[in-house]
Amino acid sequence: MIPNNYHELNYSKIATYQFCPFLYKLKYIEGKREGLVPVTSLGVSIHRTLEQYHTNSNDPDSLLVYYNRCFLGAGYSSAAEQMEYYLKGKRIIEEYAKHDKDRKSEILGCEKEFIFEHQGWKFRGKIDRFEKLPDGTYHVIDYKTDAKINENFDVTKSLQLALYSIGAKRAWGKTEGKASIYFVALNKIFSIPFKEIDENSVLDKYIEIGNKLEGAEFPPCTKSCAQCLMRMRCQHSSHPEKYVKLDNL
Ligand code: SF4
Repeated sequence: MIPNNYHELNYSKIATYQFCPFLYKLKYIEGKREGLVPVTSLGVSIHRTLEQYHTNSNDPDSLLVYYNRCFLGAGYSSAAEQMEYYLKGKRIIEEYAKHDKDRKSEILGCEKEFIFEHQGWKFRGKIDRFEKLPDGTYHVIDYKTDAKINENFDVTKSLQLALYSIGAKRAWGKTEGKASIYFVALNKIFSIPFKEIDENSVLDKYIEIGNKLEGAEFPPCTKSCAQCLMRMRCQHSSHPEKYVKLDNL
């Protein structure tokens, strides 16, 4: 049982702080929401679809039924834009269904949550897909719906996968396996074995940022503004789009 006064760290908090500490303040201290845009809306639709599909069916012929049920209409500026993204998602789902026909793993859970304690901090995470491989080892998978892979992407440096691997080991006792990021739109998977994760240095990194959160250090990082969904509502934004005062929204 983890004491209630332990402060919680998760990957989303850490990633937000690394992107821009002031964005962390807006989201996690002031409770502002970024709102959905087409790309994030489609991402939610696909995550929901795959969760429902693997939880209830695992029959690739039924995957489109789940997509139609889970497709989210919010976040689009017109019916035409909504249809454009619906069709993009449909292509992704059809491709996923093709590959899932050959899957040999046993799915053990979707959106599966872990929680563990380390040095007075509570670590929590939710894994998109957790499965057992034919060789008896375990596999944690995080889905990404990006249409392109960032050229600087390096799976061995992923703090997200590192935390998920540690979570699978410490919370569920699964010591043998690998963690992967699966770019579903591109059908590309990047993996790292659990044993290559340096647990202490990963957790130290989380705690280092956790201490900054606790110390209320939230300087704006204006080099991130062009990619920031909050830029229209942030007084520190360096982006030329017009700032709208938060309280008016
Ligand atoms: S607009 Fe820029 S400064 Fe403001 S929260 Fe976003 S990234 Fe940070």
